[in-house]
Amino acid sequence: MKALAPRTLDEALLQLTQTPDLRPLAGCTDLMVSEPEDRRDWSGVLDLRGISELRGIEWRGETLEIGAVTAFSEIRDSPEVRQSFPALAEAASRIGGWQIQNRASLGGNMANASPAGDSLPVLLVLDAQVVLVGPEGKRSVPYRDFHLGYRQTALGPGEIIGWVQLPKPPVGATQFFRKVGTREAQAISKVVVALLASVSDGQISDYRLAAGSVAETPVRLTEVEESIVGRALKPEVADLAGHLAAQAVRPIDDVRSTAEYRRFALAQVVRRMTLQLVR
Ligand SMILES: Cc1cc2nc3c(=O)[nH]c(=O)nc-3n(C[C@H](O)[C@H](O)[C@H](O)COP(=O)(O)OP(=O)(O)OC[C@H]3O[C@@H](n4cnc5c(N)ncnc54)[C@H](O)[C@@H]3O)c2cc1C
Repeated sequence: MKALAPRTLDEALLQLTQTPDLRPLAGCTDLMVSEPEDRRDWSGVLDLRGISELRGIEWRGETLEIGAVTAFSEIRDSPEVRQSFPALAEAASRIGGWQIQNRASLGGNMANASPAGDSLPVLLVLDAQVVLVGPEGKRSVPYRDFHLGYRQTALGPGEIIGWVQLPKPPVGATQFFRKVGTREAQAISKVVVALLASVSDGQISDYRLAAGSVAETPVRLTEVEESIVGRALKPEVADLAGHLAAQAVRPIDDVRSTAEYRRFALAQVVRRMTLQLVR
């Protein structure tokens, strides 16, 4: 059986109203590996790739809107993203290899809801909003409220992710992204970190820190942020930030890493990012 392949959002919403448990499909890079070949049944699948409204990157006033089906290669190469959201461009360029980046979508990374999804800590520090669309209409959810638990999201029956909205970051803020994996490419993160920080008059005035692969969901490390904002910019602050970050998370041992290494790597990455503010 073939997947349903609507050409417009209205057509997709009609199909979702009639059958709310249809499984949305974008790049299929997660869906393909999650289902053994002999059990793949495309009849319950709603292919979103032909819906042009859900693809593209565009400024709407002070907000950059990215369609959920937009592939990471488009995000990686977008002048708008590279200029205003370099951490997201960097994350996009670190997801899988080029073949994966050409297919994998931002919406798929979010809906797949892996704690190791590389774009997700970036969305947290950028204070992204997610526009969900379904049979009841549109609703906007702060991205920090989107992941409810391990592999759980705020998506309701028949709802899909439509767009991600990124408010323009504060002028002068510096953005960082770093993933730690077994290899430089094609590795699922042992730890992934994003930071957005501003310094004014020698003090850290904004410090937004998030990490993935260190808890059931990607997490914003608000206790660390609160301890660091307002401090004078000195190397010791970088040590403190790394130390506090390692204490704030609840990583697990699994096939990719031990919890102990994850804490260690997180502390080092946060320390180095913060030191770059000092220099
Ligand atoms: C070889 C390989 C390497 C990879 N490397 C990385 C990596 O380095 N970093 C990383 O983060 N990930 C990686 N991944 C995982 C995967 O590529 C990403 O999670 C990707 O973003 C998924 O997007 P997709 O468009 O392919 O989603 P799909 O596979 O099409 O869908 C994934 C899930 O999201 C749902 N979904 C998709 N779009 C929507 C939508 N708009 N609304 C609601 N639900 C939706 C689907 O129903 C499904 O449950 C890798 C995968 C492979 C196979």
